Amino acid sequence: MANESLRQQLALLYQLQEHDRELLSFHQRLQTIPRHIAQLEATVTKYREDITAKSDELAEVEKGQRSKNAELEMNEVQREKYRNEQREVTSNDAYTALQNQIEFLDEKDSETEEEILELMEKGDQLKAELEELEADIARENEKTSEKTSEFRSEQKNLEAQINKKLEERNSFLPKIDKKLSTQYHRWRERHKTNFIALGKNGTCESCRLTIQPQNLKEAQKYEKLVYCSSCKRLLYVEPADPNISFP
Ligand SMILES: [Zn+2]
Repeated sequence: MANESLRQQLALLYQLQEHDRELLSFHQRLQTIPRHIAQLEATVTKYREDITAKSDELAEVEKGQRSKNAELEMNEVQREKYRNEQREVTSNDAYTALQNQIEFLDEKDSETEEEILELMEKGDQLKAELEELEADIARENEKTSEKTSEFRSEQKNLEAQINKKLEERNSFLPKIDKKLSTQYHRWRERHKTNFIALGKNGTCESCRLTIQPQNLKEAQKYEKLVYCSSCKRLLYVEPADPNISFP
């Protein structure tokens, strides 16, 4: 029966289109996965950069502390020298001058000690912040590796589904008339949309418009290709006989 074979062709073509639609959505999802993984890694990198910056800041503070302590030690040596000189001077003026020098050193030292205290406080604060960041990055690392492995398994799963769909597609593609599949592929290339439209309840399911009665009658015979008069897609209409499977 010629008309039966055309109906089967339309059913196969519709199946092909469904496979391509699913393949496209699998591919689109697959393409987003590397981006998701990169985003997760970027978050960890950001934490790592924060930690490096804060560690550098802490190192600066500790360096400052060391140099202030060295100043105190140097002043102590100097003070000791003045005291020794004081024991040896004979004039009152010279003694007082040395005493003034010692007092000046004392004043400088108390300023330096205050600065050291400030640096110590700053250092403690930075250490606490670093500890917090370390905890954050540990948590973030765990989350990232968990999510990354989820994405990787989704990736594998999608690849398997794609392969399965492709195999199926390749198995029934040769059953479709070459002219028909060429029309299909050209349309898909040009319009990036469906080529075959289901016709149900007298309506084209692609453009949602009523199929002209004459067209519908023709299409239900499955004797020749009938196109939707408004969206120009190939119509695959519901058979008049409800026992025939559709689509
Ligand atoms: Zn239409």
